[in-house]
Amino acid sequence: MTQDCCATPKTSLIPVETARTRILERVRPVSGTEYVPLAGALDRVLAVDVASPIDVPAFDNSAMDGYAVRHADLAAGTPLRVVGRALAGAPFDGHVGPGEAVRIMTGAPLPAGADTVVMQEQTRLEGETLFVEGEHRPAEHVRRAGEDLRRGTTVLPAGHRLGVADIGLLASVGVSEVPVRRRARVAFFSTGDELVPPGRPLAPGEIYDSNRQVLRAALQRLGVELHDLGILPDDRAATEQRLGEAAALADAVVTSGGVSVGEADYVKETVERLGELDLWRIRIKPGKPLAVGRIGSTLFFGLPGNPVSTLVTFMQFVRPALEKLSGTEPRPPLALEVPLAEPIDRHPGRQEYLRGRLERDAQGALRVRPNGAQGSHVMTSFRGADCFIVLPPEAAHVEAGARVRVEPFCGLP
Ligand code: AMP
Ligand code: MG
Repeated sequence: MTQDCCATPKTSLIPVETARTRILERVRPVSGTEYVPLAGALDRVLAVDVASPIDVPAFDNSAMDGYAVRHADLAAGTPLRVVGRALAGAPFDGHVGPGEAVRIMTGAPLPAGADTVVMQEQTRLEGETLFVEGEHRPAEHVRRAGEDLRRGTTVLPAGHRLGVADIGLLASVGVSEVPVRRRARVAFFSTGDELVPPGRPLAPGEIYDSNRQVLRAALQRLGVELHDLGILPDDRAATEQRLGEAAALADAVVTSGGVSVGEADYVKETVERLGELDLWRIRIKPGKPLAVGRIGSTLFFGLPGNPVSTLVTFMQFVRPALEKLSGTEPRPPLALEVPLAEPIDRHPGRQEYLRGRLERDAQGALRVRPNGAQGSHVMTSFRGADCFIVLPPEAAHVEAGARVRVEPFCGLP
């Protein structure tokens, strides 16, 4: 089959959503559970439901600084006698009898006998005598035991990726170790004889290998186990050996470069020989060619080499695949409809992911602006960008003010 862009009709391009769905169908989550301390649990994926070992709150307590009282005493409007104090961590041991009140601080256990907390601002104290002002509901400012969570109920479900607040939630129920799936192992490398690692001088025709650094950073954000296999030369034997090694150690292999129609591209034929490979032409700009395959049970993603294409296709196709591989449900991108700040002219045909920047107009309304030159090699288009402007394949001229689809980056890049 020809890979020539111009000889093949546009209709043979695979829609972005179809490609993503087909990729996800191929992915099976890694198996294997390990226990990690809470301190190392951020971004890990829960292997099983975590139930609360306690009620939260564990006891009735005060939501305010004020006085614990018996609600029935308030109707009469007679002053109360303050008989003690209840602090967080230092409960009042006694019993609040009729006509009595206890000074109470936020988080302190509600003393026996009391059923309501009156906030300090609605009281006046003269010596030990408390005057309560205003109207009060029974059980006002009392947090009930088990109100947040009942003992035995699920705090967080299997498949949940632990975020910052989740760590707090687990700590609040006393969990110190968390059952998580093992991390997905992802090997990655760049391909191309022109590539030089940053830090070395460039000879004529050479360029710095930026994609591998981008892949590493993106993979770090996804919380997977990284295996950086360096730069693969444009050489058949080396490609075969290194790809074989990568497949043996990883659950997924991600490469950049060598999937277009250039002559010195050995990645495709090697994956085909060692396993199976589909070379897709996706209706996406930038990043039309994408190789998707497997070597044994290891997934393979061959991303196009142009740096913007590498990152865009990583975000659209590899990220959801690795989320599923890690045991969590890939989240569809957050999408907004936002007016365009300036017109766009383009060739219709592919769904385009322009790097954009959200801003406010003079009235404070949200709008979005393309972020500089948009070539697939122009990484500065990401500089200061915070979203993709996603234009449908058929879009040609898009007026300023037209509402366009915007996908905020949300963590990547
Ligand atoms: P390829 O897909 O291998 O034909 O590469 C397409 C373009 O991306 C060429 O201009 C390559 O030099 C460039 N490129 C490929 N790999 C990298 C990389 N790792 N870092 C920066 N540019 C790259
Ligand atoms: Mg190349």
